[in-house]
Amino acid sequence: MKEPFLAAVPVLERIETAGFEAYFVGGSVRDFLLNKVINDVDIATSATPVEVKQIFSKTVDIGIEHGTVLVLYQNQGYEITTFRSEAEYEDFRRPKEVAFIRSLTEDLQRRDFTMNAIAMDKEGNLIDPFQGQLAILNQVIQTVGEAEDRFQEDALRMMRAVRFVSQLSFKIEEETQNALIKLVHLLEHVAVERKQTEFEKLLSGINRRQALELILQTNMYSYLPGLSNQEDSIRLVLAYEVERLSTREMWALFIFCLKVEKKEIEEFLRGWRIPLKEIREIQLILHYLYKRFETSWTTYDLYTATKDIFVSSEILYLVISGIEGNDTIQHFIRLYEALPIKERSEMDLTGNDLMNWFDKSGGPWLKELLHKAEQAILDGRVKNNKKSIKEWLMACNHN
Ligand code: ATP
Ligand code: MG
Repeated sequence: MKEPFLAAVPVLERIETAGFEAYFVGGSVRDFLLNKVINDVDIATSATPVEVKQIFSKTVDIGIEHGTVLVLYQNQGYEITTFRSEAEYEDFRRPKEVAFIRSLTEDLQRRDFTMNAIAMDKEGNLIDPFQGQLAILNQVIQTVGEAEDRFQEDALRMMRAVRFVSQLSFKIEEETQNALIKLVHLLEHVAVERKQTEFEKLLSGINRRQALELILQTNMYSYLPGLSNQEDSIRLVLAYEVERLSTREMWALFIFCLKVEKKEIEEFLRGWRIPLKEIREIQLILHYLYKRFETSWTTYDLYTATKDIFVSSEILYLVISGIEGNDTIQHFIRLYEALPIKERSEMDLTGNDLMNWFDKSGGPWLKELLHKAEQAILDGRVKNNKKSIKEWLMACNHN
């Protein structure tokens, strides 16, 4: 076994000492077997949430109705979920109610794909009743049990299958894929928030190109916000070197290819329930991208855009223009790093200074002059210190 499992072994031991079973489960065991970076270690247990809370001193109720308690142990958070079955499903969505059970096998049985239905005990022994290791070896995504049943229970699983194609470069097993094609329309019943999580993981996966092709082939795009009837635009996305882009840049590329009008960008992203802060960033990236098509960056644009945004706009510009390499990005980063100020608050000049120097009360002239000084500092026409700025302003006769 290796980290981060080793650090979590005492958590399993504590639960076992209290008389219950506990195992590592889900994505962390899969990624461990794949020799990939392991994100969070999930734990499944026969103890009920109330029992888990009695074992550990620091816990947070994060999803107690689904049986999940967050345990803080040695500055690390662990999601501990009670074994459960999900017998009754409603409207192809989540189960109406979950039943807590004491059997690990039954808990593994309710999981989506065989590769995600492997448990590991504290000694590193694997419990794999559905041949998940074989699926990992063969690189296939296969539902636990009948694919049609499992997709009818929860239609999101179809989208999860495609996002795992993107992340793991596995193939969807034939029967699973046939069921997906047949039942893809059930995705219309799934909450947008859940689709968003899977789509963003899909957009950042190494094999995103093939996953997007699958979204086209299976008609899945028809059930995704803002993408129905957009087959041609999605194909256009695939014409670019998408592998070079971050998730945020992928959203911007989609918007570019979909030809979403400027004033409708927010609506499109809200349709995916993207947080407003991210929407604003994507809007800025697109704003500077369109500007970039007209002309190269001025130091003033680099400054107002800020590094985070102009790097994204520039990479999109390169990808859309079919330019290989990152040389221009490095060049613009160097220009940016050399700027005398990175934001207005770094200017050695305030509105108060101006009012004192010119003995005038506030008004629109202040904003104008601040802006003028800001540009002069950025252009290197004047040094960023009060004395120089004052002399420069006086010499320019600004009164
Ligand atoms: P990631 O590395 O992206 O977190 P993951 O496999 O851990 O991938 P999660 O969404 O974190 O995915 O889910 C954790 C585990 O819970 C899965 O491995 C799977 O066993 C189970 N699971 C998650 N969603 C579903 C679902 N819709 N239906 C059945 N089982 C699910
Ligand atoms: Mg996970």
